[in-house]
Amino acid sequence: MTSLLIAGGRVIDPANEVDDVLDVVLKDGQVKDVGKIVGQHVGSSVGDDLIFDASGCIVTPGLIDVHVHFREPGHEEKETIASGATAAVQGGFATVCCMPNTEPAIDDDGRIDFVYHQASRAQMANVLPVGAITKGRKGQQLAEIALMSAGGAVAFSDDGVAVASASVMSKALTYVAMTGKVLMQHCEDPQLGGGAMNAGSLATRLGLSGWPRVAEEVIIQRDIQLNLRQGIGCRYHVQHVSSGGSVDLIRRARHDLFGQTHITAEVTPHHLLLTEDQCRDYDTLYKVNPPLRAHRDIEELLSAIKDGTISVLATDHAPHTQEEKELEFAAAPYGIASLECAVALYIRALIESQTIDWPAMVAMMTANPARLCGMGNKGHLAPGADADVTVIDPKLTWTVDVEHFTSKSQNCPFHGETLTGRPIATIVGGQIKLNYDRDRLNRGHQRKPPK
Ligand SMILES: [Zn+2]
Repeated sequence: MTSLLIAGGRVIDPANEVDDVLDVVLKDGQVKDVGKIVGQHVGSSVGDDLIFDASGCIVTPGLIDVHVHFREPGHEEKETIASGATAAVQGGFATVCCMPNTEPAIDDDGRIDFVYHQASRAQMANVLPVGAITKGRKGQQLAEIALMSAGGAVAFSDDGVAVASASVMSKALTYVAMTGKVLMQHCEDPQLGGGAMNAGSLATRLGLSGWPRVAEEVIIQRDIQLNLRQGIGCRYHVQHVSSGGSVDLIRRARHDLFGQTHITAEVTPHHLLLTEDQCRDYDTLYKVNPPLRAHRDIEELLSAIKDGTISVLATDHAPHTQEEKELEFAAAPYGIASLECAVALYIRALIESQTIDWPAMVAMMTANPARLCGMGNKGHLAPGADADVTVIDPKLTWTVDVEHFTSKSQNCPFHGETLTGRPIATIVGGQIKLNYDRDRLNRGHQRKPPK
């Protein structure tokens, strides 16, 4: 197997505290070396290998998104594992974790196996399955958690809905704790809502039912208490935090209960950039669950990112057909398809706003999600790590065009937005799956060795 040398980029590898202009060598599906290599070897040992000129770019461990919805099995018209895995690499993601809310739900080891099988046929991004917590995601009987864990489920979630019953949740925390994996909760008490948008005066004026912030907050608080009571300390992760009040609860638990409980949280690009005001014209592209909230929530989310309360960025890529999104607001399904523009959205929300710097943002998309889901060989660039790398041009200005999406769905409210920064190469297992700027491959050969 030939090797691939990614030359002259700013390598940001937060797990190893690397942030420097360096070269990365990939060989036999692994990271072989990171250092100043081109200067020493041009014209000699790297002579026959592929060289990708990453000058002016940021080179990171392959980006990881722990929250996507690929609709296979059941709704292949929206997304398949293959189309979703292709959209992922287009967006710079080498690895994604897909939620089990398919039809049927991913709730046994055979279906875990099915996801791996379809992903390996697609040969695009790594797709790692999240198993359901309860059978059929119905919230009543626990699913085959141990079997799914043994079969390769990287986490457990009933995403789309919360585990509403405290007694079922209590058992789920116990069983997931035994696997050592993480329980991801979609925090929303169904008895407090079920609405189309954020509960409040705007929803009332629009005649729409609302999801109040407290629906999210009570589940988080309940789960913190249940997890403490167990004394088992299940690794517990709050999916798509939307409310400032939730941030307070998570921050306090992380601080006051340090060592007694394990709680992490993720946030989506849309909850960082959009507010409920966007629902004003009944545009269903802005209908998501949990709903878009207010500016003050965004400020709280940003402060939570700044102080590490929220440590993971996740898209919640949720593809739907145009026909479904053309339904009236109350009837249309929740979700935004954002895998293919997410990196630029994070740059806008976090770097351009000067909330955090590049190494902090890269950690939230590499080292932190890898740790969350127990991906020891991913999320970093130490020798021996999987040969997954993303190259981002931070200055490239481009316009989101859903017609160019490789996802099967186009339900993205960022269509037409001009954004700065985009992944130009996604390398998975040493293979280049996205090569946006084709001129850069082998351009390194034209460099002259220093005399
Ligand atoms: Zn969810």
